[in-house]
Amino acid sequence: METLKRTKIKALLGREPGGEVLAKGWVRTKRGNKQVKFIALNDGSTINNIQVVADMERFDEELVKRITTGASLAVRGELTSSIGSGQAVEIQAREIEVFGDCDPMRYPLQKKDTSLEYLRTVAHLRPRTNTFGAILRIRHAMAFAIHQFFNDKGFVYLHTPLITESDAEGAGDMFQVTTLDLKDIPLDKKGNVDFSKDFFGKKTSLTVSGQLEGELGATAVGEIYTFGPTFRAENSNTPRHLAEFWMIEPEMAFYDIEDNMELAEEFVKYLVQYALDHCMDDLRFLNDKYDNGLIERLHSVLGIAFERVTYTRAVEILEKAVAEGVPFEFPVHWGTDFQSEHERYLVEKYFGKPVILTDFPKDIKAFYMKQNEDGRTVRGMDVLFPKIGEIIGGSEREASLEKLEGRIAELGMSRKNLEWYIDTRRFGSVPHSGFGLGFERLLLFVTGMANIRDVIPFPRTPKNAEF
Ligand code: ATP
Ligand code: MG
Repeated sequence: METLKRTKIKALLGREPGGEVLAKGWVRTKRGNKQVKFIALNDGSTINNIQVVADMERFDEELVKRITTGASLAVRGELTSSIGSGQAVEIQAREIEVFGDCDPMRYPLQKKDTSLEYLRTVAHLRPRTNTFGAILRIRHAMAFAIHQFFNDKGFVYLHTPLITESDAEGAGDMFQVTTLDLKDIPLDKKGNVDFSKDFFGKKTSLTVSGQLEGELGATAVGEIYTFGPTFRAENSNTPRHLAEFWMIEPEMAFYDIEDNMELAEEFVKYLVQYALDHCMDDLRFLNDKYDNGLIERLHSVLGIAFERVTYTRAVEILEKAVAEGVPFEFPVHWGTDFQSEHERYLVEKYFGKPVILTDFPKDIKAFYMKQNEDGRTVRGMDVLFPKIGEIIGGSEREASLEKLEGRIAELGMSRKNLEWYIDTRRFGSVPHSGFGLGFERLLLFVTGMANIRDVIPFPRTPKNAEF
């Protein structure tokens, strides 16, 4: 068996019959009778299994008993055309080696219960299911496509720090990073924690956004993007929030809000198209198993222009909906931040397509957003998607030193940790824009999964950090 090189199952399934092959993988199922056994083998290279046909005259009863769901095997044999339906080729086994047995009585994936909720409790093994195999491959394809997209446009991939003293606009509650002994915390004269004794000599946390550092890159090399983990101590247990998620944050010098919207729209359409072009087997599986509208919905966002609407106009639409009896749980009026139900009403009921909201009241958005002439709104933009709500948040940034400083003062923010950021406006300031795409929110859309815990291998949520 050793002289023959292993071929991945994805490649075998695309081959013409003929010749001797070596496949390795995990058993999905075994069926058959006394004369012949059919083994469905999967190695993760594709959602599809290869059928291994084992003639019982050739194989020892004891060996065949060990071929159970979850066991790992090497199979050498002839690649032949298959008479059974469902596959073009199969392997007529000559030799089978069991690498690792898998006790059917103890294997957690043997259980009848394969609900997504159950699988979350066995997240260490769920990558072996068809569903999570598909999700992991799509997740990879989307990560690859993101780098491809920006690389083709000449953007520089910038690594922004994960440990930081900046709270980036207060985007979310932060996880503190410390090496202080929690049983013996050093205090200063006033009785406050003495962070000068801590590892970095100051109070530090895990990043909630790489944007502020991203702006440093954009105002130097023009166009950058970050793609890394982001941490928010979100205590909201929603199907759309994780405590650890991945974010893509492009930041571009010389882009105004229009350029920013165009890029965001082109970007998500590129990713959806990439998924349709490269992940069709996996998408079809998810479409059939979980969400019959998935593939149609993916196609539907490609052909149309996203609706661009100001916040003010959206409030009018929502207020009219309330007057007409639409039962929203949360109130809506000018000045409130929209809830997911409002976003979904706009996208799914009113416009029937993705929506880009712009020009928000300044009080519900961060200090760095470009201030409009009206004195009450800022040039923010949120991209809203069907079934998900907000998938992207961004803005044109305030480029004027005076206005930025004015806003910082107005909000009573401490400038102590912000001088480095303000320097971008002090020295050669330029108009610039950027946005953040939540990677798992994108994956919710692309896979059709309903819960964000099911599109990341090891979800971190309140009271859950296993593995
Ligand atoms: P939301 O209102 O949904 O909490 P946000 O306004 O806090 O979002 P931003 O700070 O604009 O979000 O972050 C940019 C993007 O990051 C969001 O559009 C979303 O796709 C994603 N995102 C934000 N928070 C989370 C989270 N806790 N888990 C997963 N993705 C998130
Ligand atoms: Mg939030």
